[in-house]
Amino acid sequence: MNLAKDKEPTFPTSYKEILQRIDAIDPLKYRASRNYIDGAVSYLSPYISRGVISTKFIFTEILKKGHHPKQAEKFIQELAWRDYWQQVWIAKADAINHDIKHIQAPVSNTEVPKAILEATTGINAVDKAIEEFYKTGYLHNHLRMYIAAISCNMGRSHWKSPAKWMYYHLLDADWASNALSWQWVAGANANKKYVANQENINTYCFTNQKGTFLDIPY
Ligand SMILES: Cc1cc2nc3c(=O)[nH]c(=O)nc-3n(C[C@H](O)[C@H](O)[C@H](O)COP(=O)(O)OP(=O)(O)OC[C@H]3O[C@@H](n4cnc5c(N)ncnc54)[C@H](O)[C@@H]3O)c2cc1C
Repeated sequence: MNLAKDKEPTFPTSYKEILQRIDAIDPLKYRASRNYIDGAVSYLSPYISRGVISTKFIFTEILKKGHHPKQAEKFIQELAWRDYWQQVWIAKADAINHDIKHIQAPVSNTEVPKAILEATTGINAVDKAIEEFYKTGYLHNHLRMYIAAISCNMGRSHWKSPAKWMYYHLLDADWASNALSWQWVAGANANKKYVANQENINTYCFTNQKGTFLDIPY
């Protein structure tokens, strides 16, 4: 499903419309555009996380439509990430509530940065996304990464409180994907931290901001 840049996502509850959403998945467009805020992502996560549909069902429907697995690889990989994080949760249990591979460092606080809570980071794409998030319960994956990077790697907040804040507001709240992705961004579940910069944000969010605190080279 492609959304215009200024259109907010909606999440119908009729099963027929959910099936139409699965039918509309275009794996090639997805592969080419998923990182852009108006990309052809599926908006299926609330239904998956609430158990209305399964990743296996979506996978089967995609193959039934005749999409070649190779062409649908990127989309299938993302479904697999969701199930992988669930399996990590099952295997590691409470350990996912703590820094799982590395101790996050440096950490100076265990709060959610005020600028994130109030959508006043000064990064226009991020502030707009947070304001919309409060209304819709949805955030594009790239925005989740930018918000986590600003909170943990710039604001030096420990990942857990901001992760809980995001979880609380998400329609697709899934503690495995949430906690383990926040830890991935913060370097607690990866060997390096995810770094966001203004140039990358401008590219994927169609902004043209300069001189912000993220306007730095990689
Ligand atoms: C900091 C952070 C927090 C996150 N918290 C959650 C969460 O609480 N719940 C949640 O469902 N996802 C979470 N994700 C993963 C991802 O952002 C969402 O699943 C995705 O944006 C949902 O939109 P979509 O259905 O349009 O995804 P699409 O891109 O259309 O993908 C299809 C499906 O694949 C799965 N998927 C896609 N990307 C990922 C990913 N990176 N990791 C795991 N599964 C993925 C989801 O089930 C999604 O519905 C988080 C990612 C980050 C970086």
